[in-house]
Amino acid sequence: MNIHEYQAKQLLKGFGAPVAEGVAITSADEAEAAARSLPGPLYVVKSQIHAGGRGKGKFKELGAEAKGGVRLAKSVEDVVTNAREMLGNTLVTAQTGDAGKQVNRLYIEDGADIDRELYCSLLVDRGTGRVSYVVSTEGGMDIEAVAHDTPDRIQTIDIDPEAGVTEANIAEINAALKLDGAAAEDGAKLFPILYKAFLDTDMSMLEINPLIVMENGRLRVLDAKVSFDGNALFRHPDIKELRDETEEDAKEIEASEWDLAYVALDGNIGCMVNGAGLAMATMDIIKLYGKEPANFCDVGGGASKEKVAAAFKIITADPNVQGILVNIFGGIMRCDVIAEGVVAAVKEVGLEVPLVVRLEGTNVDAGKRILNESGLAITAADDLDDAAQKIVAAVG
Ligand code: ADP
Ligand code: MG
Repeated sequence: MNIHEYQAKQLLKGFGAPVAEGVAITSADEAEAAARSLPGPLYVVKSQIHAGGRGKGKFKELGAEAKGGVRLAKSVEDVVTNAREMLGNTLVTAQTGDAGKQVNRLYIEDGADIDRELYCSLLVDRGTGRVSYVVSTEGGMDIEAVAHDTPDRIQTIDIDPEAGVTEANIAEINAALKLDGAAAEDGAKLFPILYKAFLDTDMSMLEINPLIVMENGRLRVLDAKVSFDGNALFRHPDIKELRDETEEDAKEIEASEWDLAYVALDGNIGCMVNGAGLAMATMDIIKLYGKEPANFCDVGGGASKEKVAAAFKIITADPNVQGILVNIFGGIMRCDVIAEGVVAAVKEVGLEVPLVVRLEGTNVDAGKRILNESGLAITAADDLDDAAQKIVAAVG
């Protein structure tokens, strides 16, 4: 689960991290009061969307010359003018895709006098099985280019879970970021704080880009992007509250309510499967025969007829879906239950695209009988190859 920058900063502030003062607003009428509550004379108006690259982003509705999704403002009036221009418009960044994201909330923040922009993130390193700091002196808006062109400017420091963040680790991070004096003292406080926040709230990623050295030599967290481990959210009802469903794919929300794993992709064949391994195999074989999956919905083991019907509806709700492949191996999941769910869903929502069903395993004969006797235009397939070839041919 992701949260907004302003929420991430509030959270980090609670752990003692140095963040700027700021106020989140959802209407331009609130902009003036928000700005007046800040020290000034420099302000920043920041689009709150669940995507990075806002500074270099462009608003769809505004001309190419218009400023991006993070704007400096030199007066209260300037804050208000920018807030009016930005709110309600669609910001397209390198991370949003062409559709962009509507900006429904702004964060009005105290402007900082920046000396240097650094990069600091924490993540779970699968290689070492540890939480690692990934740091670079080349922070700011081009970290992707740094990673691509000069990867040697990015350093990884992993943390021993028994020892936590040691003095040696701090020295290493400070050195990697070329911090000294007051900034190094701030670093010695900040780096363990970030680690504690990461562990205590079950984050899967914490990215501060930029972490800045201000002209007065102190450190400040200027941007913050946080993702939490969805499997640990039950331990954090307060963090669950921070979820902003308007930022998420509506179909993925619907799927999570049914405890279905749904993933939207770019092709045009919708896939209903059970189990992640079968999902991968199904997508591979669709690609092998020359098409791309539009999505996959994993109904898991032991799904009910209602759950299968919900999965089917989620798959068909995607306008890119030009054909559907149901590929189920009935182990715990019974083929007749799948068949009943599919038939019920088709009867309810109709079937406007070709549907190929491949069932194998427990109660397969009963499942096939239900499909055959349904009177619906369902193409039965015998195995994975047959199923993929049939759906690819049907989509054309
Ligand atoms: P994004 O990463 O989505 O582009 P950031 O929050 O990193 O958004 O902002 C982009 C850039 O805007 C930063 O690299 C920094 O140069 C500038 N900036 C952001 N917040 C402030 C601030 N409070 N004061 C001064 N400059 C800021
Ligand atoms: Mg940033």
